[in-house]
Amino acid sequence: PMMYNETFRLLGLDLVYLCFDTKEADLGSLVRSLREMNVFGFNLTMPDKERILPYLDDLTPAARMIGAVNTVKNENGRLIGHNTDGVGYIRSLRDFSCPVKGIEMTLLGAGGAASSIAIQAALDGVSVLHIVNRKGRSWENALRLADIINKQTSCKADVLSFDQKDLLRECLAKSSLLTNATSVGMAPDTNHSPLEDSSWLHPGLFVSDVIYNPRQTLLLREASGRGCSTGNGMYMLLYQGEAAFHFWTGLNMPVEEIRKKFFTE
Ligand code: NDP
Repeated sequence: PMMYNETFRLLGLDLVYLCFDTKEADLGSLVRSLREMNVFGFNLTMPDKERILPYLDDLTPAARMIGAVNTVKNENGRLIGHNTDGVGYIRSLRDFSCPVKGIEMTLLGAGGAASSIAIQAALDGVSVLHIVNRKGRSWENALRLADIINKQTSCKADVLSFDQKDLLRECLAKSSLLTNATSVGMAPDTNHSPLEDSSWLHPGLFVSDVIYNPRQTLLLREASGRGCSTGNGMYMLLYQGEAAFHFWTGLNMPVEEIRKKFFTE
């Protein structure tokens, strides 16, 4: 809310961004109310990113592939769902001078954040994508993502589990980007890393974490110790907001001002 309200103020827009807590059972009636109030648009966070789908009129192609929505635009009464998490993540890599086109990438996780990153990475030109998940809740989703990517983009995607240690080590050896999109390492459990063995990391690997609390996860600290360049998830948060603002208004967010005010390390 601070990021958007400051943007509205800086650009002199007569808009206000508010937060509402909602219960699962009330999501449908909340969306009906938002329609009746003719709101400009809204964001959703977990666990509503998938639950919102039946209440929307249309999806952008990326949101359809991801199967989740974090941004909704009201276009003359029609609610259009979009997903800016992946766009924000890929945009954040530019700040770290980490290329995306033609690279081999290893992505840890297959939940909400990982889905949007996987699809966007494939759409933006990653050549080979290894999706790693435990054989748990998101395993089927990992397989679904790889299938969609292989059928609808030029990226080659495969899926492996954390138990396939030799294969995981080989994937990391060939990759130039490792992205942690699991919640492992997030506060308060900051003494955990999703990677069992940090010796699999090599200096040619840019190691990135979507987690921004703490700023330096155990994975990032271990990666720095192994000579890797690293980046945390703070700018993904900034740039997913920038992309949402642009989707709603067609205008550019004054990113530098917003970064200085709210996103200093
Ligand atoms: P989800 O719950 O959708 O996904 C979590 C992922 O982590 C799943 O793949 C899950 O596997 C995996 N996971 C959880 N615990 C373990 C474990 N102990 N070992 C191995 N894998 C595990 O969450 P989100 O995708 O929404 O969020 C993930 C992280 O991304 C959070 O830390 C969140 O704060 C961050 N995030 C950052 C954003 C940003 O702007 N920087 C935006 C969105 C999220 P399984 O489901 O199979 O258990």
